[in-house]
Amino acid sequence: MANLVQQYIEIAKKRNPGEPEFLQTVEEVLTSIEPVLEAHPEYVESGLVERLIEPERGISFRVPWVDDNGKVQVNRGYRYEFNSAIGPYKGGLRFAPNVYPGIIKFLGFEQIFKNSLTGLPIGGGKGGADFDPNGKSDAEIMRFCQSFMTELYRHIGPHTDVPAGDLGVGAREIGYLFGQYKRLTNRYEGVLTGKGLAYGGLAGRTEATGYGIVFFAREMLKHCGEELKGKTVAVSGFGNVAWGTVQKLNQLGAKVITISGPDGYIYDPNGVSGEKEAYMLELRSSGKNICAPYADKFPGSEFHAGKKPWEVKADLYIPCATQNEIRIEDAKAMVANGCKYLCEGANMPTTNDAIEYLKENGVVIGPSKAANAGGVACSCIEMGQNAGHTVFSPEQVYEQLETIMVNIHKHSAEASEKYGLGYDLVAGANIAGFEKVAEAMMAQGIV
Ligand code: GLU
Repeated sequence: MANLVQQYIEIAKKRNPGEPEFLQTVEEVLTSIEPVLEAHPEYVESGLVERLIEPERGISFRVPWVDDNGKVQVNRGYRYEFNSAIGPYKGGLRFAPNVYPGIIKFLGFEQIFKNSLTGLPIGGGKGGADFDPNGKSDAEIMRFCQSFMTELYRHIGPHTDVPAGDLGVGAREIGYLFGQYKRLTNRYEGVLTGKGLAYGGLAGRTEATGYGIVFFAREMLKHCGEELKGKTVAVSGFGNVAWGTVQKLNQLGAKVITISGPDGYIYDPNGVSGEKEAYMLELRSSGKNICAPYADKFPGSEFHAGKKPWEVKADLYIPCATQNEIRIEDAKAMVANGCKYLCEGANMPTTNDAIEYLKENGVVIGPSKAANAGGVACSCIEMGQNAGHTVFSPEQVYEQLETIMVNIHKHSAEASEKYGLGYDLVAGANIAGFEKVAEAMMAQGIV
């Protein structure tokens, strides 16, 4: 069976040259599901894995727009509709200069299993553009979003494909995208999630990803006979996910001692709490994508230029910035500092060799596709709210979110146990996510 999995990985490598991020997640997922394939020869016979690693559809398109100086700019937009076995394609849009098919396909592939883990009827997809929103004026952002949607609208719909935000796409961008979709189609429908509260958005969606991550971390610690209260936590990033995470950690009595940006990290031994939470939002809206000003504003905190927070000693580490921010050298520093828990907030923040090293050294890992699924789960609740022409209260949302996160942890732990792997949430999440998608694919024939 190991041979067979290797063959699938070789197929992926041959078909997707120069896309290391996509191949990284394919390898991680396929290695984990090996025991499931052993138990289900019919999956192998029906070419299920070969189909799973090939997106159902991939769209690449030109996004022309005019900047504030009247100059024509051209970007490239993408939407990879990966798997619709259990529901319409669902996943965010990422606007960042490093976006290319390898990034969108890695995110789309991860989204299949993440969305399945939520227990809700949503398939996997992802999109974006190699557009850098930093330093752009509001008018430029609007023109870009309108041009992007002028192609994308042909491919999406509330029963087909429902995009949302990701890095570089927040409430403002979703607003402009929604406005243009409505103008082009003359339809007011739940085609995007993460909308503003005034026009169909869900109360609690903004903080949902971060809150969900902390609920998941709480379940991990509980399983190991510990609690969050009083724990020191090293968080990376300072965007939407980091902000929600920091807020919920403070509410549950943990102490956040770091945040970070592309420029370096902040070490704050007094804790990132109170007015500092709101300051994270100010940093974000400055559009400069740096965290250094935090240290000038809050005496007692330090800025470490060009460094990552993984060198700091903490009880729990929660990366909330971007992919591959924890590499093998970081994993070694964490283990040397006595790290026991890693709960992944960002998508695929840890390289495969770093995961292996952390596991070998007894670190309990909450993988991103399980831990950060609260965001997309609330997106699906937003789809339900829109389809039912109703409005849910924040209390209704928070309650569902917490239940979903507790269940994701439970099902991941059970799946790992079922295949004799002990408490391995990385494998368990991949297996639990895969099982449902595989069952649906088998029922639907060779499509
Ligand atoms: N971009 C988020 C994620 O990585 C949210 C996707 C969504 O809400 O559709 O899960």
